[in-house]
Amino acid sequence: ISTTLAARNGLLVRERRALEAARNIDVVLFDKTGTLTKGEYGVAAVLSAGGASDEGIMRLAAAVDAHSEHFIAKAIVAEARKRNLPLPEVKDFARVPGKGVRGVVDGKSVLVGGEAILTEVGAQVPGEMRAKLSETITEGKTIVYVLADRELQGAIALADVIRDESRAAVAALQKLGVQVAMITGDSEDVARWVSRELGISQYFARVLPEEKAGKVKALQEKGLKVAMVGDGVNDAPALARADVGIALASHGDTATSYASDIVIIHSSIKRVSDIYKIARKTLSIAKQGIFIGIGLSVVAMIFAAFGFIQPL
Ligand code: ADP
Ligand code: MG
Repeated sequence: ISTTLAARNGLLVRERRALEAARNIDVVLFDKTGTLTKGEYGVAAVLSAGGASDEGIMRLAAAVDAHSEHFIAKAIVAEARKRNLPLPEVKDFARVPGKGVRGVVDGKSVLVGGEAILTEVGAQVPGEMRAKLSETITEGKTIVYVLADRELQGAIALADVIRDESRAAVAALQKLGVQVAMITGDSEDVARWVSRELGISQYFARVLPEEKAGKVKALQEKGLKVAMVGDGVNDAPALARADVGIALASHGDTATSYASDIVIIHSSIKRVSDIYKIARKTLSIAKQGIFIGIGLSVVAMIFAAFGFIQPL
């Protein structure tokens, strides 16, 4: 009954026991980028750290990010195309998981990524750049830094959009008495802003992909039953670790789907509270079934005791 009910609601239940576990969930942990937000980034501003021009910064970043599938990379490449920037060749491209990307451009070692990428070469954001960033950039922007040969060239500010349905999805769970938390590899600033917008009181920021499962475990060690909702390849270990792993299927990302127990087919996170409701409903239907079953047996026994039912 439960899996059929789920399928009718656009949910693919891969692990039936997870649906049973879903009714005891204490906290739902949402991934941010691509889950609570659309992951449709747009470049809002480019800031130079010194000598480099905006075009030069965009050109370097887009060249390396042309080899990445990340939401942010796609936005940077799209912006470079819009500006008609020819992209130079990249050698030795590599991903730095949860931090960004690297490659060699014009003989220079280029790094593109969030604040965490700076630690790769021990670089720091100079005070004046920080001031410029906070002056020109309003809340909620993701900042990507561009370095060449260990030196900071500049920063690109990108804005993502919070999904329309996120607010309702979070509120619905809270109304059902389930705690909601958020986890992201993005900066503290962006995490704080998104959580505040959505009324989420607990968040974990700057969490590297391999640490996401650890956060799930930490919550479980507090005695909480955790459901994790994610989209990216990044989230697979956390989805597998959670008591209930829920994947958004929109991105056709099979790795994540395989790690999950339940896949939301139509990619609306509003469905998360449905999972909880279906799980609860199934329990009550199952209980009804048991009571009806016991009831019938009792009636049959009474009949039998009084000889209404004759053995053959
Ligand atoms: P989330 O945990 O919210 O899904 P990710 O783990 O995918 O986010 O990424 C974390 C951060 O790493 C991003 O906010 C960004 O700063 C940086 N990053 C990752 N990949 C890239 C890339 N290809 N280009 C630029 N920055 C990147
Ligand atoms: Mg993500």
